[in-house]
Amino acid sequence: MNSSKQQAHLGHFQKANTAHILNILEHAQVAMWEWDMERDLNYINDMWANMIGYTADELNPVTFATFNALIHEDDRGLLADALAAKHADIAHEFVAVFRMQHKSGDWVWIKARGDFIEFEDNKPTRMAGIHLEVSELMGRVELERVLYEKLDGLMQGTQVAFYSIAPTPPFRLNYISPNLISEYGLSLDSNEESWQELLHPNDRDYVLAEFASWAKSSQSNDLSRTFRIRDVNGVYQWVEDRCHKSFENGVLAQIVGTAQNVQEFVEKDKLLDRIADVAPGMLYKFERTVDGVFRFPFANKRIVDIYGAQPNEVTEDASFVFARIHPEDLAFVSESINYSAEHLTDWDCEYRVVNNGETIWVRGHSTPEREPDGTLAWYGLIMDVTAAKNIEKQLREYQQQLERVQEIARLGHWRANLQTGDLYWSDIIYEIFGFDKETTIPSVTLFSSCIHPEDVESVRESERIAVETGVHDVEHRIIRPDGSIRWVHELADFSRTEDKGEYLTGTVRDITDRKELELELRQLSTTDSLTKIDNRRSFFMKSDATINGCRRRNEPVSLVAFDVDHFKSVNDTHGHAKGDEVLYKVAQAVKESLRAMDVFARTGGEEFAVLLGNTSAEPALLVAEKLRSAIAALEFKDAENNTFHVTASFGVAQQDENEPLDDLINRSDKAMYHAKQHGRNRASLAAPH
Ligand code: GH3
Ligand code: MG
Ligand code: MG
Repeated sequence: MNSSKQQAHLGHFQKANTAHILNILEHAQVAMWEWDMERDLNYINDMWANMIGYTADELNPVTFATFNALIHEDDRGLLADALAAKHADIAHEFVAVFRMQHKSGDWVWIKARGDFIEFEDNKPTRMAGIHLEVSELMGRVELERVLYEKLDGLMQGTQVAFYSIAPTPPFRLNYISPNLISEYGLSLDSNEESWQELLHPNDRDYVLAEFASWAKSSQSNDLSRTFRIRDVNGVYQWVEDRCHKSFENGVLAQIVGTAQNVQEFVEKDKLLDRIADVAPGMLYKFERTVDGVFRFPFANKRIVDIYGAQPNEVTEDASFVFARIHPEDLAFVSESINYSAEHLTDWDCEYRVVNNGETIWVRGHSTPEREPDGTLAWYGLIMDVTAAKNIEKQLREYQQQLERVQEIARLGHWRANLQTGDLYWSDIIYEIFGFDKETTIPSVTLFSSCIHPEDVESVRESERIAVETGVHDVEHRIIRPDGSIRWVHELADFSRTEDKGEYLTGTVRDITDRKELELELRQLSTTDSLTKIDNRRSFFMKSDATINGCRRRNEPVSLVAFDVDHFKSVNDTHGHAKGDEVLYKVAQAVKESLRAMDVFARTGGEEFAVLLGNTSAEPALLVAEKLRSAIAALEFKDAENNTFHVTASFGVAQQDENEPLDDLINRSDKAMYHAKQHGRNRASLAAPH
């Protein structure tokens, strides 16, 4: 710029008393302007024009319109606002930063300052000021703005808020991302300490002190804390805050940071804490480091109940815990840990702990996991099982008592799953059945194989009845592995479980002694319980007496044997009970037809015999005929009240001299079979001896 031009432009600055200042400014190469607002003429100097690539001559005279045309359209509003503010309050400092278009087309950032210098009737008529080129500065601001805008976009979708803080007290906020604004009501316009006021009163002091000392220190490490700040709704939220120092040319330029709402995690942590507190035992993480150190980095409060230790007493070293394991159990507990470590299998262990002089039983379970640094970690639970152990012990004792009682009573209990064939036997049953408990697995099949062949049907029948009535009640024989026979009484309940399993649960009693006694007693008795006439045993005794007497008196003796015809079909057609009734009535009818001295007995199921003293073959045949017609005349009623009859076949034989009773019986039986073969309901005379 040449000096004549400078002189020319200097002339436009009216105030003489400021001339020397203007001169200085001109020489200091400050861009100046003076605006005659009445006539809308703006006088500018060369510096002003040079800033945007022109000479003053090229631009003068500048009107507000031509000036405005050079301003970036986005900034025109801002400039108008600044002017309006100045008119509204003349004490207000006029400052505006805006972009002007350089001759080259580029944008140049200008900071304008100015003041009213002339008034007419209190109305400002003239204004003067300077322009400063602030492109370099604004370029950075603009760059940051663009960066932040991009960041804002990125941050919008995340839970992480981003901010930048001035590096020195009072740590003014320079930037905050929109999610911080919306969540915590923070804005750059709010007063400088606003973000500090949002801190929870309990957290504020230490958070600020820590922050200030960190900001002041020369350390370049990040600062990371978790604290509470108040959100727009007045609710305190846990945030995880991370601050980072940003240096420019070795000088701390700003502090940038992120804040993440971790309320959810904190709540989860709290929830975990609470769960850990109510866990039924000691929840823990147990570690074996690569150096072979054992420790509990985590244990809930229950560790006090189990080991009498506080969680923090074992975080670095677990020896406190090991010292409390019962000396007799310590070795196998260590072994089980080593095994779990070696095979990476679950650790399961039951052992005693001596806690406060008291021995308790505990059960532990945990799962090992190898961590990246080679540490082996077990996550698990240890529970006090002393009470359960005591109950178990009591139960075992009770069980033993029960076994003893059952042994004395020779009474066992069992449970059969009728679908799977599984069978449980109490100890005494093995003994009753003659099996070794250690080597025998009871099953329904094994049991069945023990049943005496003659009793299989009655056992099956009882089982069938059990399904209908719920009660299984049967006495039967079993053959033991050594071939001996025992009598047992089975009494059981049939039940169906919800899953349709069918079970028989009951007792078995060894009744061999009773049965033998019963048999003995039965043998001792003389009367047949069904027909109330003599039984077989009595028949032989009484016959012997009769035969001896007759032999002494030289009198003949004859035997009449008879068997009911087709008696099976009587049972089959009318039922077993009706059959019994038939037998009883037949016996009574026969008895009534005989003399008192005749020996009449039931010798088998539906077989009878009559020993006639002082009777030879012919009259004996007549007696048989009489009995035959008496039986045939009997009338029976079936369930439908229809009448039916039965008949019998007879064999008659006269005893030969010195003929044994058995032979006599044989011959009469043969005669009887002859009668059967020849049409039944008849009597046959036996061939001579
Ligand atoms: P048969 O004319 O050839 O004698 O024909 P049966 O049907 O009588 O044949 P068998 O003598 O072989 O059958 C006898 C039946 O008698 C078999 C058995 O079920 C039945 N029985 C045996 N004792 C009793 C008893 O005490 N009460 C009842 N109700 N039936 C019996
Ligand atoms: Mg018969
Ligand atoms: Mg028979």
